[in-house]
Amino acid sequence: MVEYKAALYGREFAKIDRFAPTTKTCSHCGFRVEHMPLRVREWDCSSCGMRHDRDVNAARNILALGRRERLNACGEGVRPERVPAVFNETGTHRSEGIQK
Ligand SMILES: [Zn+2]
Repeated sequence: MVEYKAALYGREFAKIDRFAPTTKTCSHCGFRVEHMPLRVREWDCSSCGMRHDRDVNAARNILALGRRERLNACGEGVRPERVPAVFNETGTHRSEGIQK
């Protein structure tokens, strides 16, 4: 619906990860709070001290994420996904180690 309305009015539409932690991430400095119960409507960032309205802070983060995705020409995230190391990917067998 939002995508359709954006197209109708000549606006840009960007979709972000629905599980992005927009509520508990400080829109000013990026610090992320571990837990934030729904009853918390306003909070102070423990990193930069900025006071946030829960919903306004989330809206700012959503806007920033949408713009980031728009600016990324390939439509991919700006950070590479973490790839777990393969067992025995690196290293030297003990028999090939440094001789003392
Ligand atoms: Zn902050």
